[in-house]
Amino acid sequence: MSSTPIPYGRQWIDEEDVAAVVAALRSDWLTTGPRVAEFEQAFARFTGSAEAVAVSSGTAALHGIMYAAGIGAGDEVIVPAMTFAASANCVVYQGGKPVFADVKPDTLLLDPDSVISKITARTRAIVAVDYAGHPCDYDALRQIATDRNLLLVADACHSLGGSYKGRPVGSLAAMSAFSLHPVKPITTGEGGMITTDDPELARRLRTFRNHGITTDHRQREQQGSWFYEMTELGYNYRLTDLQCALGLSQLVKLPAWVERRQAIAARYSAAFSGLDGISSLTTHPQVSHACHLYVVRLDKQILGMNRSTAFAQLREQGILVNVHYVPVYLHPFYRRQFGTRQGQCPVVEEAYEQVLSLPVFPHMSDSEASRVIDAVKLLVEVSVQ
Ligand SMILES: *Cc1c(COP(=O)(O)O)cnc(C)c1O
Repeated sequence: MSSTPIPYGRQWIDEEDVAAVVAALRSDWLTTGPRVAEFEQAFARFTGSAEAVAVSSGTAALHGIMYAAGIGAGDEVIVPAMTFAASANCVVYQGGKPVFADVKPDTLLLDPDSVISKITARTRAIVAVDYAGHPCDYDALRQIATDRNLLLVADACHSLGGSYKGRPVGSLAAMSAFSLHPVKPITTGEGGMITTDDPELARRLRTFRNHGITTDHRQREQQGSWFYEMTELGYNYRLTDLQCALGLSQLVKLPAWVERRQAIAARYSAAFSGLDGISSLTTHPQVSHACHLYVVRLDKQILGMNRSTAFAQLREQGILVNVHYVPVYLHPFYRRQFGTRQGQCPVVEEAYEQVLSLPVFPHMSDSEASRVIDAVKLLVEVSVQ
């Protein structure tokens, strides 16, 4: 038996990617050059959006969104508790308060009823997180946002390449955030993107990523001008030309990669469907699931072992499973700063005790997928006996 460890996610870099980055290195522009706009345009086209704004990380994308949305002190933003901390941290960066909502037990996606129950006079926006790559119920969430005059934002860091009712992820909310970290659907090392159809929001985002300065270095060079003005407080959240060269090269491969992820997920689902004590999440028929994560829930009673034991046993066999996520409001920072506590989102807390993310990534081989399936089956068989 081969025991080479199988990571839960991994980038795929080929010789075309290497050549694209080398060409950028040999060009005149290492940052804020022509490849930034090229990558933004390709990304906008791919996601069916009018505009895409490249930034240095998914976190910077979320921060930019909260800035462009005008979130500030006293404002509340509804965020699912089952997500990476950055989905909520971005609200805090702007002085706002994240209000944690619960999720649906079958998909672990934001529950529209929980969202409604969290709305107050101070609520300004909703962050929909496409957990594991499954697009949220955007029609239901958009209806709530429209009725209550709230901004609907997507944290689409898992779901690039997915779609909802035939509409691509990136075109489903007022602004959508993407991460280009190596475990995400495509990578630029570190990186992020925001998509929107609103040119005014895009303009604010471009200013924000460049210190709040209204022109960039290349624009001034072209105009033969040195003068610039800082009109807002921004950051250096720029993405380099080297990274955009890699992103452009990666993006063309994404549709095939999503298909490969979906094929691996389908094998897992078929293999686990008859097993007691382990259940897969539901995929709704109206979506194309980007399959960033393959999450199973373990039933402690039936298996006679808790998630930590299963986690350790699989990792011992080189199946490098992971857990997504610790409920955000249970992190010490949130307890201290916002007084959050155990019991706020019961569905999220129950799921957190049970979830395990199995390896899935585009260049995973069939035999690696078989190793994962066999290891999970062994876990179930041994424990049920
Ligand atoms: C990865 C991720 C982020 C943050 O992206 P970075 O590029 O790592 O900053 C935000 N939200 C979710 C749901 C993520 O998975």
